Amino acid sequence: RIAYVNGRYVPHSEASVHVEDRGFQFADGVYEVVAVYKGQLIDEKGHLDRLERSLSELQIAMPMARAALAQVLRRMVRVNLVRDGLVYFQVTRGVAPRDFPFPYAAMPTIVVTARSKAFPGRDVKPVTVITTPDQRWARRDIKTVGLLPAALAKQKARQAKAFEAWQVDADGYVTEGASSNAWIVTKDNVIVTRQADHNILRGITRMAILEFARENGFRFEERPFTVEEAQNAREAFVSSASTFVMPVWKIDNVAISNGEMGPVAKTLRDAYFDAMEQLADA
Ligand code: PLP
Repeated sequence: RIAYVNGRYVPHSEASVHVEDRGFQFADGVYEVVAVYKGQLIDEKGHLDRLERSLSELQIAMPMARAALAQVLRRMVRVNLVRDGLVYFQVTRGVAPRDFPFPYAAMPTIVVTARSKAFPGRDVKPVTVITTPDQRWARRDIKTVGLLPAALAKQKARQAKAFEAWQVDADGYVTEGASSNAWIVTKDNVIVTRQADHNILRGITRMAILEFARENGFRFEERPFTVEEAQNAREAFVSSASTFVMPVWKIDNVAISNGEMGPVAKTLRDAYFDAMEQLADA
């Protein structure tokens, strides 16, 4: 395997950054994960747009021109022989003597890795989720590498043998999953997902799904929902670059279906796969 570090393609086993990289010491950096399907980067534009936005919110410079970065991502897919898988890229504020304020002269660090991963197909078995208090900071719209709360939530999910942890705010409303956006379909067939403000990450998959919902004539609302509303919903699902649309059948041990994928999740998952196939055929 090959990794990309600051302009160099190096063996993955030897890829490293400096001990005083601010990503390491302060989680002072941001990242993106892009799915690769049949060799194509999925929703590339959305992910690059979000990277630029995360960086600009933190006043970190783009480490290279956007077009050059796009070329690196493609090359990483190629040299690592990824057909289906994930590309990860991370930019930090760079290396500087440890001090809290921004260094005056640090070059941002950029790291790119790519790995193969088989995605479950269109017909997928619904998963279970647990809920946990949302312990993150107030700018969850920035995709930072400060992922300790997410790691704690995911570990809790693993111990409960659940696929994902839905995080719940102080008022009892679900914000999103530890690494996904959260969705329900109400008994009167309205798709609900939380509005994209500072409380959640504006998922790129989320945006694609809202578009598919529009195209399919589904009713949808962007608003918060409680755990109780979710447990009384007709369907639930999560979305992310690595899961696309993943149906959920159990929330904190309350079953909301018989364990089969619901029709809305099925339609949206199919729409996502259709869009990926179109890209692959182009
Ligand atoms: N919410 C959080 C907290 C995430 O970490 C992620 C992605 O990993 C998502 C939502 C889904 O975003 P995307 O669809 O862009 O992968």
